[in-house]
Amino acid sequence: MRKPVNPFGSVPAPDRRRTSGGVTSVAGFTPTNSNTRISPAVLSRPAPSSTPANPAANPGLSSDRLRQAMVQRLRAQGISDERVLDAMAAVPRHVFVDEALASRAYEDAALPIGHSQTISQPWVVARMIAAVCEDRTPARVLEVGAGCGYQAAVLAQLIREVHAIERIRGLFEMARTNLRALRLATRVRLIHGDGMVGLPSLAPFDAIVVAAAGLAIPQALLTQLAPGGRLIAPEGDTHQRLVLIERTGASSWKRTELEAVRFVPLRAGIQT
Ligand code: SAH
Repeated sequence: MRKPVNPFGSVPAPDRRRTSGGVTSVAGFTPTNSNTRISPAVLSRPAPSSTPANPAANPGLSSDRLRQAMVQRLRAQGISDERVLDAMAAVPRHVFVDEALASRAYEDAALPIGHSQTISQPWVVARMIAAVCEDRTPARVLEVGAGCGYQAAVLAQLIREVHAIERIRGLFEMARTNLRALRLATRVRLIHGDGMVGLPSLAPFDAIVVAAAGLAIPQALLTQLAPGGRLIAPEGDTHQRLVLIERTGASSWKRTELEAVRFVPLRAGIQT
């Protein structure tokens, strides 16, 4: 059972962390499927120097400081939208990971959340939200692949209506618990379902953020995008790239390929 109490109570032993193929991982956790940008230089760097010697002494303050350091790192990595940086600063990421990993919550790494899935890397979350919000503020967003609910919580800081779908029941419940703990349960509408079919009854969406990689972006999602709306999704198998789609007309979409990334796979159907 995950315990949100005193998330900074445990400090990981140094050997808990290893790198493989340029991707940081936790012992026993496969480094593929890590919702991560492919960037060995960034991923293999040491933990931020602002990590306090004894984070357990004052968890609240420590997490605030670590989160500020995370935001500074995001700036240095090219995220410049202040709305997105404010949203990243507002959401306590440590609440969304297991207590044993909480002290690593503000590293720029994906972390396991159970069910062979991961919480997305902060840079990836910020990048995707910044891309769909550039020069606009979407009023209604659909997230496919809510996982533990972290990105949905960040989206809810700057978008009025957030709908988030998760196919694995255990994670859907975890997201619900986390969002309730942060009093965001009324701001985010969580659905246990198959996000590959989208949410036709609530379409169109001004923005769609897909947090798992398929070989191609599902057509259903493209058609549920409002004209002028934007969708971002990872695409590919072993080699993946973020793809930004803008709906330019009733039957026209503009496609732009962005950074190389690695996400968990998009799968059809639900898991109970
Ligand atoms: N948004 C999450 C990322 C979780 S990982 C975060 O904030 O960290 C991606 C998630 O997508 C996994 O939990 C996986 O179960 C889910 N997923 C994969 N295919 C899906 C589908 N067809 N519909 C809904 N969720 C899906």
